[in-house]
Amino acid sequence: MDPDVLFLAEHFEGKLAPSTLELAAKARELAASSSGAPRGILLGHDAGALADSLTPYASEIVLVDDPALAEYAPGPYEQVLRATMDRTPPRVLLVAHSAVGYDFAPALAGAMDLPLVTNCVDVRLEGSTLVATRRLLNEKVQGEFEIASDRTYVVTLRPGTVKPPEPHPPGRLTRSEVAVDAGAARERFLRIERPQVQDIDIGQADVIVAAGRGIKKKENLALFETLAKRLGGVVGASRPLTDLEWLPKTRQVGQSGKTVRPKLYLACGISGAMQHVAGMKDSGFIVAINTDPSAPIFEVAHVGVQANVLEILPALLKEIGA
Ligand SMILES: Cc1cc2nc3c(=O)[nH]c(=O)nc-3n(C[C@H](O)[C@H](O)[C@H](O)COP(=O)(O)OP(=O)(O)OC[C@H]3O[C@@H](n4cnc5c(N)ncnc54)[C@H](O)[C@@H]3O)c2cc1C
Repeated sequence: MDPDVLFLAEHFEGKLAPSTLELAAKARELAASSSGAPRGILLGHDAGALADSLTPYASEIVLVDDPALAEYAPGPYEQVLRATMDRTPPRVLLVAHSAVGYDFAPALAGAMDLPLVTNCVDVRLEGSTLVATRRLLNEKVQGEFEIASDRTYVVTLRPGTVKPPEPHPPGRLTRSEVAVDAGAARERFLRIERPQVQDIDIGQADVIVAAGRGIKKKENLALFETLAKRLGGVVGASRPLTDLEWLPKTRQVGQSGKTVRPKLYLACGISGAMQHVAGMKDSGFIVAINTDPSAPIFEVAHVGVQANVLEILPALLKEIGA
C-alpha cells in the first residue's frame, strides 16, 4: 500500500471545477498524516495546460490524455483509475461529491472491492483508520465514522466544505499511458444539455447578500440587488423566498440548496434555521441583520446587527452612494 493520497481532478469545458482545489487541500492534509505525498490525476484530452495549472497544489499530477476521456464517461474513467490504482494503490482516493463523483466513485469502489464513504464534510486518518464526518438526519446531527481497512479508501467529499489550498512550489507533471478501450464502455457521451433557465452560480461568488422572509415583500429585493451589485456580489436567499418563487431555486442557500463559502455573507432577515446554516456557516465573514436578538443566525455570525433590515439597508446604500 502506497501512503500517498490521490485526488481525481474534475473539469468541464476547459476549466477545473473549484472542488478540485478543495480535494487537493484535503489530499495534502491527509498525506501529511500518512507520511505520503498528495497526488492528483487528471483525465482528459488535450488537457496538458489544465494539468499543468494544478501542479502548484500537489507533489505530482498524473495526466492521462486520450480522446475517449475528452468528456466524463464512467467506463473509460473506471478503466484508467483501475489501471492506475492496481499499479500503485494509494492510501486514499478523494473524489468530489458532485454529479460526476457520485456516479463514478461507488462504481469504482464496487468494481475494485474497496471501502467507500460518500458525502463527507470532513475526513482524517488516525494511523491506518479513516475517520469520516458525515451529516445525518436531514443534517440535524453530525457523526464521525471509523473505517479500518488495508485497502484504498474511496472518499467523496462534499464541495464547499474545505478551504482551497495556497499554492506551493510546483510538483511534477507526469504523463501516464493507459490503453482506454472506449468500445468496451457501456455508456457513450452524446452531448451536454443545458438547463433552459440559466442563472448565476452563487457557489462561485465572493460576496453573497442573502435575503430571508424578514424582507417582507418581493419588491424589497431591489434593495438587495443594488447592494450586491455595489459590493461585486450576488443575491442569495433562504428557502421561503425560493418556495415563493421570488428568486429561482438556484439562489437558495442551505441543506436543500447550495453550500456556499463566500468571503462575505450578509444574512438579512434570516432566522438561522439549521437547514440554512448548514449551507453558509463556513463563509469567511458573516454579518447578520435581524430584529430578533435571540435569532439563531447570531450564533454563527461574526458581526450581528439587531435592526430592521428595511431601514438599515437604504441607509447603508445612501452612505456608500449607491
Ligand atoms: C428538509 C428541509 C430542508 C430545508 N432546506 C432549507 C434550505 O436549503 N435553505 C433554507 O434557507 N431553509 C431550508 N429549510 C427551511 C428552514 O427550516 C427554515 O424554515 C428557513 O430557513 C427559514 O427561512 P427564513 O429564516 O428566511 O424565515 P423565518 O424563519 O421566518 O425568519 C425570518 C427572520 O427574519 C427576521 N425579521 C423579520 N422582519 C425583519 C426585519 N424587518 N429586519 C430584520 N429581520 C427581520 C425575524 O426575526 C426572523 O428571524 C428546510 C427545511 C426542511 C424541513
